[in-house]
Amino acid sequence: MRKISIFGATGSIGQNTIDLIRRAPDSYDVVALTGGANIERLAQDAIALRADIAVTAYDGHLPALQAALQGSGVEAAAGQTALLEAAARPADWIMSAIVGAAGLAPGLEALKHGTTLALANKESLVCAGQLLLQTAERYGARLLPVDSEHSAVFQGLVGEDIAAVERIIITASGGAFRDWPLEDLPKATLAQASSHPNWDMGQRITIDSASMFNKALEVIETKEYFGVRPEQIEVLVHPESLVHALVGFNDGAIMAHLGAADMRHAIGYALHWPERQSLPVERLDLARIGQLNFRAPDPARYPALRLANEVMARGGMMGAAFNAAKEQALDDFIAGRIRFTDMAVVVETVLEQMSGESDLIDAEMTLDNVGRVDHLARKQAAHAAAERIG
Ligand code: NDP
Repeated sequence: MRKISIFGATGSIGQNTIDLIRRAPDSYDVVALTGGANIERLAQDAIALRADIAVTAYDGHLPALQAALQGSGVEAAAGQTALLEAAARPADWIMSAIVGAAGLAPGLEALKHGTTLALANKESLVCAGQLLLQTAERYGARLLPVDSEHSAVFQGLVGEDIAAVERIIITASGGAFRDWPLEDLPKATLAQASSHPNWDMGQRITIDSASMFNKALEVIETKEYFGVRPEQIEVLVHPESLVHALVGFNDGAIMAHLGAADMRHAIGYALHWPERQSLPVERLDLARIGQLNFRAPDPARYPALRLANEVMARGGMMGAAFNAAKEQALDDFIAGRIRFTDMAVVVETVLEQMSGESDLIDAEMTLDNVGRVDHLARKQAAHAAAERIG
């Protein structure tokens, strides 16, 4: 039996992971499940999967979790220290599916214990890619990509030499507003931005898909994970979301990865890697689909992609500043404080301000220093957002 833990078990990726685990209950021994505010879901799944421990990230939810787990034999815990302790519990495979920079510390802790970390939490690679990769190497741990695009590239590279790769093309659906008139974008509502044309995902990543901030994070994730140069990475708008990524080699060949828009494919690939096992995902009928469309992203519609290039060009811990500013701007949009198009303006303002903070941005990449950059960038973003309102 493989020992596994799922961080962010109550979210969209977490639930898709649990769906796969439930189909083969005798194969897995569940160590820890973690969640945030959704205590009912966390407790139900922890009991059903006979987890050793269930952890909520929030101290205030501990009494509710304890009550829900009473008599079940599942241990209850809460707070940041408890999350780190859960990450330190021996496990063969850990899913990192907390949303946002909050996923970084538990992921890093898990790597220090030599596990295989399936990384859905792209934000940790954007904030501290070098730190994660070095930690994995030092402790003999392994990082496997779970983002569908990065899983697709990873699969396209099996048996290949990265030195023979000319370019990596990741696709984007174009999000909820890909066909809207540009002048209507400032009026986009939260409900409109929270509805994705192809994928069923958590609310934050869905809005990030509409703004293309999600793809901007993924471009940086590609650079960090595969170690390619920024100019080797391209984004293509592909409205059908069936080709997830393409790898172009130095002989002109392009390997494309196709699959249904179902995260259980990428999760299952990471779960069974290096083997392939049958997965409960739709098989594509290309004759019925008939057509696949591709177009270049419109820079005026998606300023986030330009900002990602600026972040990579600047280097240091600018990724952490970018992600934190984006998270704060997203909070402000969700709370109705700023407009959809203000998010990019806020993030750009923070990048300009942070580029002057060389002592901080170019300091050694440690968890503490990433935290400092994150803290300052959120403060600056909140300030920039307040100026947009006032
Ligand atoms: P969700 O919002 O659906 O779930 C997020 C999970 O993280 C929940 O379990 C939530 O708990 C928990 N959580 C939220 N805030 C905190 C916190 N501060 N500390 C600890 N735990 C917290 O997100 P998704 O599943 O959509 O995304 C998870 C990650 O996977 C993200 O990094 C995303 O970018 C990435 N990803 C997602 C894809 C998808 O299809 N959804 C595709 C590719 C990547 P609770 O809900 O109980 O409050």
